[in-house]
Amino acid sequence: ATPTAVMVATGKGASQGILIKGGNALENAHKVRTVVFDKTGTLTVGKPVVVSTMLFSNVPIQEFCDIAASAEANSEHPIAKAVVNYAKKLRQKYGSHTEHFTEAMDFEVHPGSGVCANIGGKVVLVGNKRFMKSQNVPVSMEIENYMSESEQLARTCVLVAFDGLVVGALSVTDPVKPEAKRVVSFLRSMNITSVMVTGDNWSTAIAIANEVGICKVFAETDPLGKADKIRELQLKGGAVAMVGDGINDSPALVAADVGMAIGAGTDVAIEAADIVLIKSNLEDVVTAIDLSRKTLSRIR
Ligand code: ADP
Ligand code: MG
Repeated sequence: ATPTAVMVATGKGASQGILIKGGNALENAHKVRTVVFDKTGTLTVGKPVVVSTMLFSNVPIQEFCDIAASAEANSEHPIAKAVVNYAKKLRQKYGSHTEHFTEAMDFEVHPGSGVCANIGGKVVLVGNKRFMKSQNVPVSMEIENYMSESEQLARTCVLVAFDGLVVGALSVTDPVKPEAKRVVSFLRSMNITSVMVTGDNWSTAIAIANEVGICKVFAETDPLGKADKIRELQLKGGAVAMVGDGINDSPALVAADVGMAIGAGTDVAIEAADIVLIKSNLEDVVTAIDLSRKTLSRIR
């Protein structure tokens, strides 16, 4: 495209809340044959809510939730926010007026897995089953059963371990965005295949994919794995767009021909992307590709 055409299209995009960072992004967007969507915060609203808890030890529920929240308080992950909000609500319910959680020491984020912190002398892990196993925390049959029950309901289950033992689980639900299904079917009408890639477990991922009409799913994928999936899809044919919101999506956003960040997403994702969807509305994936198609066909 000519510099003028790029400028016009960029301006048009901006007026609709689609921030296009330069001519390359615009040129690549019209070639896109596959759109890869992250799940949490991209296809889903990204405001998960804790809907059930299960204790596998005799730690009191309030203490369990407070400690989990202390570990999660420094994380930007939507699940972390759900855990913190739940602990706060529980405090209100039990009439506690304490404002703050115990300060975390040695706080560590494991993108796509969970968090680890020292809370008042306890080593606390909050994260998925894979994370527990990688930290040598055993996951019993009883725990596995609770998890798969939650997952079949499209919920995500996070485990909480104190000093190497799982003491309980929280299960969160995160509804899909109202426009998600429409966007997937519209892309199909444009001859573009939609794919889901997520760090979440297979059962939850498939349940959500079914809800929005996505047939191709990659689950239990860590941040670098997401980028690998992008490269595999590129080899199979055509340009690939990645739509994501998290730190965990940044390698994939960079690997894609067109990285699109959800405006409500993390700064890291927004920086890694070529296009920012300011309104966080998935319809704008279509609008951006459409704008690029129109711009490039006009100047040819
Ligand atoms: P997605 O790819 O769907 O955006 P992520 O890669 O961010 O999901 O996370 C994958 C999984 O890792 C989550 O479903 C959750 O089980 C676990 N996880 C990641 N971060 C956290 C956290 N801060 N607290 C609890 N679990 C987490
Ligand atoms: Mg996400």
